[in-house]
Amino acid sequence: MIDESRVSGGALSSDGVAADVALAEVRRLRAADRPTHGGRLFAYVYDPAVPGLDDLAAAAHRESAHVNGLDPTAFPSLLAMENALVGAAGRVLGGGPGTTAPDVVGSVTSGGTESLILAVKAARDAHPEITAPRIVVPASAHAAFAKAAHYLRVALDVVPVSLDTLRPEPAAMAAAIGPETVLVACSAPSYAHGVVDPVAEIAAVAAEAGVRCHVDACFGGWTLPYLRRLGEPVPAFDFTVPGVTSISVDLHKYAYAPKGVSVLLHRDAALRAPQYFAYADWPGYTMINPVIASTRSGGPIAAAYATLRHLGDAGYLRLAAVTRDAVAALADAVRAVDGLRLMAEPESTVVCFTATGDGPDLFVLVDELTARGWHTQPQLSYAGLPASVHLTVTASVAPRVAEFGPDLAAAVVAAHAAGPVRLPAELASLVGALTPEALTPEVVVGLAAGLGLGADAGAGPLPERMALVNTLLDAAPPALRERLLVEFVGLLQRPTWGSDD
Ligand SMILES: *Cc1c(COP(=O)(O)O)cnc(C)c1O
Repeated sequence: MIDESRVSGGALSSDGVAADVALAEVRRLRAADRPTHGGRLFAYVYDPAVPGLDDLAAAAHRESAHVNGLDPTAFPSLLAMENALVGAAGRVLGGGPGTTAPDVVGSVTSGGTESLILAVKAARDAHPEITAPRIVVPASAHAAFAKAAHYLRVALDVVPVSLDTLRPEPAAMAAAIGPETVLVACSAPSYAHGVVDPVAEIAAVAAEAGVRCHVDACFGGWTLPYLRRLGEPVPAFDFTVPGVTSISVDLHKYAYAPKGVSVLLHRDAALRAPQYFAYADWPGYTMINPVIASTRSGGPIAAAYATLRHLGDAGYLRLAAVTRDAVAALADAVRAVDGLRLMAEPESTVVCFTATGDGPDLFVLVDELTARGWHTQPQLSYAGLPASVHLTVTASVAPRVAEFGPDLAAAVVAAHAAGPVRLPAELASLVGALTPEALTPEVVVGLAAGLGLGADAGAGPLPERMALVNTLLDAAPPALRERLLVEFVGLLQRPTWGSDD
């Protein structure tokens, strides 16, 4: 019988549980996660391993968690902290008083994706006369540009990258610009391979055509300037480059702030103006939103502010030096192993490698590394580029790097011994024959079960060894990969109804 006077289910208990019980549940759930600290997870997390920093950020977050960024006049603390974050990012990226970009302004967003969506929105809405707007991006640009194009109904013109340099040719970028192009974008560096695009040349062709140029420095905007100060040959990619009109940098990456903070900078306020959304045509408050969210927690902004204040310029310089040394040691470890090669010489904080012809099966190698406690990010083959393994390197990796080389070598030996993954014939023919449209929920359920995917698989939603899944995805064209993963994640995202009484 359902007692209709009380509701419970999922996270909602009928009487509420004690605070310590609720917290213990969070901690128990967290135990299944990949380790966010300790320098063995090469994606998703950015850990400087600075003692006390987590506590500081958490305290600052708590202080401002209930403050609402919806109205900066009601909460001037948030306005002050946002302006300080934008000022810091502007300075790091070549703008501010005394530079060639003295009028830089910006906004704090929730992440790189939101920054890129807003850069595209600003460019689109600056040209109401263009009815079918387009943007030009290199194939190596972050997927968030495709998401922006999709959300904003802007067409995406993708320029291939050289299979050698992993960069687009500026001439090819120029050739892709047409009368409906509202934005040209490039990366500093690209997420997948960590290479810096020829920003100056691309910005020049954009300026020549009278088109905005966005530099996606979400990943590297906070490290490249410090690496340059340390003597690394970092090309100009920021507001010192004529023609660069906007830059994004994620503070929740290498500024080491907790998640939920990115900055989108524009060279001047006129360029930023079409980013805003304002609406007075309803009976409630007039809405003036610089970013996508309206109600916004002050927590991430305060946490980022405290993090920047505490680490300071000298702290970031030191962390960049530590990270650079870790990158060099990891790259050496890759070079030392037969059967692997670097996709590119590291020029930022990414180490990306692939297998040579007689090398190990890369997806088996990833599993062997996982078994040894190293969590790497496999990248599927794409447009002539081979499958690869991505390592995002942060300062916390430095104390671990000496252990990585021997483990990598052992993992390669083990991967050779295990041999490459062979897709069972029925799976191979299924993937060969499947079209995204033919992929019904029933087919996906069957496929997921066959691959050991799903909440019933045991401890977690994924099997311990992922090589078979990765091999299957690698064999599928991108549109089928998308559909398979959408269906699979949809299977995972089902409510738990629970019962606590
Ligand atoms: C991480 C990243 C993004 C997207 O940022 P999110 O914070 O994950 O939304 C965009 N571009 C680059 C180059 C990135 O590294």
